[in-house]
Amino acid sequence: MIRQAAFEGMNGNEQKMLKGALHCHTTRSDGKSTPEEVIAQHAAAGYDFLAITDHRNYNYSDFGDHSITIIPGMEQDRNFISEREGDWCSHCFHSVCLGPADQERNGYRQDERPEGGYVKNQAEFQQVLDEVHRRGNITFLCHPRWSCLFPRDFDRLEGIWAMELWNTGCVMDDDIDRDNGDYWDEMLMQGKRWAGVAVDDGHCPDQNCKGWVRVNSGNDTDAILSALQRGAFYSSCGPEIYDFYVDDDRCAHIACSPCVHAQFYTGIQHCIMVRPEAGDTLESARNHVNSHAGYVRCVVTDREGRKAWTNPVFL
Ligand SMILES: [Zn+2]
Ligand SMILES: [Zn+2]
Repeated sequence: MIRQAAFEGMNGNEQKMLKGALHCHTTRSDGKSTPEEVIAQHAAAGYDFLAITDHRNYNYSDFGDHSITIIPGMEQDRNFISEREGDWCSHCFHSVCLGPADQERNGYRQDERPEGGYVKNQAEFQQVLDEVHRRGNITFLCHPRWSCLFPRDFDRLEGIWAMELWNTGCVMDDDIDRDNGDYWDEMLMQGKRWAGVAVDDGHCPDQNCKGWVRVNSGNDTDAILSALQRGAFYSSCGPEIYDFYVDDDRCAHIACSPCVHAQFYTGIQHCIMVRPEAGDTLESARNHVNSHAGYVRCVVTDREGRKAWTNPVFL
């Protein structure tokens, strides 16, 4: 039996999992709210931790509010001017960077403002990421649809920890980056063990507290970063997930709050959707995993259409 790391030792107790926001903006860059307002909004909504990830402006500070753990970070970017299939094309790479609270192990200073600029291809952006990783930070790829990035534009990037599946700001502004599971499966099928995250990327109060992660971790920065890197979390816009595992007969099982369907993805065949009788909800689902699959992941959807995504179980 292989249990997804988010649920090891949890015994179905979702309440013990930390709730966190990994991508938000404040007046430190182009956000409408001050850091104090953004922290207060998340603390009031029951969040345990928050990364304030303003554009190329590194932050460790909790701005005097000790009610919530602040994960140090920023959003790093490069504009990406390429010739793709002969046509001039303008798009961008954005990646959130998260690092340790101990400044001896984190290569960035409070308020450090790295330079922006242009790259011609993913190999040049790799050098930007390598520098971030060298300074002890992990990275995830942001809003690939909004960035006009296709998998062929980022599929050779190395060392990335995760990619965004849901981005509230992009969904509310442009109805994109609503479920990047297809891109994720492309990466997973290539053998990359990227995790998937739901984030807000909120630039105003209305865009905050709509997409989050639930982490199986103690509440300090090192423990949270370690759990994130192990994939010991799931992402959600509403539903709660209590368990996800594959048993010895290769049957995948999920337990969740009431949902209208569960979808099992393996990358090697169409997703299998499990649903209850019309009008009913399910709180568990299972599906036999194809013997050729290298992984299985599950997405559940509630009556309001809100989703939650497990990270994969690798087989
Ligand atoms: Zn961005
Ligand atoms: Zn952002």
